[in-house]
Amino acid sequence: MKRYFVCYYHEIILKGKNRPFFEKRLSQNVQKALQGLPYSSIRRISGRILVKLRADSPLEQIGARLQKVFGLVYCCPAWRSVQDMEVLQEDLWKLVSPRKFETFKIDSRRANKKYPLSSQQMNELLGEVVRTRSGQTVRLKGPELTCYVDIVEDYAFLYFRKLKGVNGLPVSCSGKVVVLMSGGIDSPVAAFKVLKRGCRAIFVHFHSLPHTTPESLDKVRQLVSVLTDYQYRSKIYMVPFAELQRQVVAFTPAETRVILYRRLMMRLAEEIAHREGAHALVTGESIGQVASQTLENLRVISDATQLPILRPLIGEDKEEIVAVARRIGTFPISILPHEDCCSLFVPRHPETRAKLDGIQRIESRLEINPMVQEALKQMETETIEFQGHMEQEGISR
Ligand code: ATP
Ligand code: MG
Repeated sequence: MKRYFVCYYHEIILKGKNRPFFEKRLSQNVQKALQGLPYSSIRRISGRILVKLRADSPLEQIGARLQKVFGLVYCCPAWRSVQDMEVLQEDLWKLVSPRKFETFKIDSRRANKKYPLSSQQMNELLGEVVRTRSGQTVRLKGPELTCYVDIVEDYAFLYFRKLKGVNGLPVSCSGKVVVLMSGGIDSPVAAFKVLKRGCRAIFVHFHSLPHTTPESLDKVRQLVSVLTDYQYRSKIYMVPFAELQRQVVAFTPAETRVILYRRLMMRLAEEIAHREGAHALVTGESIGQVASQTLENLRVISDATQLPILRPLIGEDKEEIVAVARRIGTFPISILPHEDCCSLFVPRHPETRAKLDGIQRIESRLEINPMVQEALKQMETETIEFQGHMEQEGISR
């Protein structure tokens, strides 16, 4: 019997005229996720993507990669049989007989509605063979072995394991966003959340070289590399921020600095978004988490850009954010020691209730536009290629 992965996706979002676009993107993403691994072909069929395997295809590795493709609900390592009931019964038995179990059930479904048997009839005909030959009992709730049968086009696929996918929408089907990426815990999780909704992320990191170490850039590269498992190639803008900070420190009171830094970051990120054709900015902010993230301050920060700022973590507490960071594998990188550009020169008592007119008055002491233009001139871009990390906790098993 030929080996396959049968991958399933949500059908609800497929209704309507976007369906072909969505499906095409999903199968392109499956192809990118499997790059470098041996397999035979990828084919789209009704509500499913079929990955045909070769004798040398590494099942576990392919499964782990598919489990990170946004848009997939399940991926199942399967055998291809035929629809003729007698042959199907024999094939199923071949696969079941070496397995150890005392209770089982058959779980059949049909994509091909022209198939003459109902799912219930198939369950009965196949279950009867397994029951009489194995001598074991059928249990519909919580059996030790579930034999899944899926009638698709001219075939019947058999499998025993459903690997949980990450759900969401295929990356790139929702357009581009610019993610403001520090080396902390929050922004990588915020990036993960928008990738999950089908966005393609362009990363921007503001660094204070030479006041901070080159390792802080490496940390950002490593974080982006983990996230690149979900979008297959990433671009990072490394923007020098030390000179802007120097001017802020020279001309403005200590309490408002973090807000001024954030507003400068928003202006720079907006420019990058225009160059990239991105529709929104993304941050890891959450209400009240730190002094710069009170509602008043968030409002003043948002005012610095015309673009919407998406804050996917706005209502999450640190524990919830850390749980996701651990699951996706960014946490151990995020907690490596580093100096963020904004941890330099931070005041002991930062402003928590900034007022827009007050901040604008202070900003008028700065030559904002030339500062922004100079930083844009000096920024550098890097590309991070897909690596297919295997070590993430929880996703691959
Ligand atoms: P994080 O864990 O993401 O660093 P945080 O709780 O430490 O978040 P802040 O440092 O106040 O919060 O930053 C709020 C948000 O501003 C970050 O989530 C990130 O989106 C953005 N940001 C902060 N510093 C930088 C930076 N150096 N480069 C790019 N974006 C940054
Ligand atoms: Mg931070």
